[in-house]
Amino acid sequence: MTARIIDGKSVAQLVEREVAAAIATLGSRLGVRPGLVAVRVGNDPASEIYVRNKAKKARELGLEGTELVFPDSMSEAELLAEVDRLNRDDNIDGILVQLPLPSQIDPRKVIDAIAPAKDVDGFHPVNVGMLHLGRPSLVPCTPAGVIRLIESTGEPIEGKHAVVIGRSDIVGKPMAALLLQRNATVTICHSRTRDLAAVARQADILVAAIGRPILVTADFVKPGAIVIDVGMNRGGPELASRLTHDPEKSRLLEKNGSVLLGDVDYAAVREVAAWITPVPGGVGPMTIAMLMKNTVTAAEWRRTPHPAEQQA
Ligand code: NAP
Repeated sequence: MTARIIDGKSVAQLVEREVAAAIATLGSRLGVRPGLVAVRVGNDPASEIYVRNKAKKARELGLEGTELVFPDSMSEAELLAEVDRLNRDDNIDGILVQLPLPSQIDPRKVIDAIAPAKDVDGFHPVNVGMLHLGRPSLVPCTPAGVIRLIESTGEPIEGKHAVVIGRSDIVGKPMAALLLQRNATVTICHSRTRDLAAVARQADILVAAIGRPILVTADFVKPGAIVIDVGMNRGGPELASRLTHDPEKSRLLEKNGSVLLGDVDYAAVREVAAWITPVPGGVGPMTIAMLMKNTVTAAEWRRTPHPAEQQA
C-alpha cells in the first residue's frame, strides 16, 4: 500500500477562506475588525520569523495584525504590565506571546496573565481546563490543526484507537484531549513508554509529536493507519545512512548539509500507512491558519454569548 498524502497547505487554505468569510461577516454585522497582537521579546531568529509570519497572515486575511517587539533586557514586570495593557484594550481580540522568553521572565506567569478570552494560543490554565472538561474553549493551534487534517481524510475518528507519541502541554496533551472528545480510544506515549513500537503499532491514528528525527519507522505502523507527523527537526550528515531509501531527503541533505525532517520516516512509512502528512507541507501550515481561526472565534465570543453560557 502507498499512503495518500494529506496536503496541509490546501487544508490550511480552506481554513483561511473560512476565516476571511467570518471576518467579513463580523465586519458587516457588528462593524468589528478583529485584532491580533503577537508579542516578541528579544532576537531569537526563529521567533522573529514566526511572529512576523503570524502578523502578516493576519493582515492578509483582513484581521488587524500587529507585531510588538521588546528588547532582550525587558523585565518580567514590564512584560506583565504590557500584557495587562493589551488585556484592557477593547480593540484587541487575540494576544500571543512568542516562546521562548529570555531567562529573566517566567513564561508561566506571562501565560497566566493573558486574559483567557484573548488567549488565542489556548495555553492559559482556564482554557486547558475547559478543553479537558470537553467544554468550548480556545484550543491550542497545532493539535486543532491536526484534527482538521484527520477530518480531511473523510475517515471517522469515533471508535478508532489513536496513539499520541509526546505529552507536551502545547501538542501531546491537548491532542489527546481533542481525540478523546471525538470519541477515539486514546493512548499517550512518552520517553518512558516501554516497547514504543508495539504500542504505536496498535494505532488506527498515529500522531507523532516527539522532536526526534525519523524515530517512527515502518515497524511502528499498522497497515492502513492514518499517520500525522507533527515533528519539525533539522537533521545533519549523521542521518545520511538512515536516509538512503529516501532519494528526495538524501538529495537535500547532500545539497544543503542539513534537511528538515519529521519524527516519521516518511519514505518508509508511506509504504505501510493509508494516509500520511509530509514534512514540510503537513501540520506546519495548519498552525498559523488555526491561530487566525482562534482570533476570529475570540472576537465572536467577546461580543456574543460564549457557547458555554448558551448551553447553561
Ligand atoms: P517537547 O515539549 O520536547 O515534547 C516532546 C515529547 O516527546 C515529550 O513528551 C517526550 O517525553 C516525548 N519523547 C521524547 N523522546 C522520546 C522517545 N525517544 N520516545 C518516546 N517519546 C519521546 O516537544 P513539543 O513542543 O511537543 O514538539 C514536538 C515536535 O513537534 C518538535 O519537533 C516540534 O518542533 C514540533 N512542533 C511542530 C509544530 C508545527 O506547527 N508543525 C508546532 C509545535 C511543535 P517526556 O515527556 O517523557 O520527556
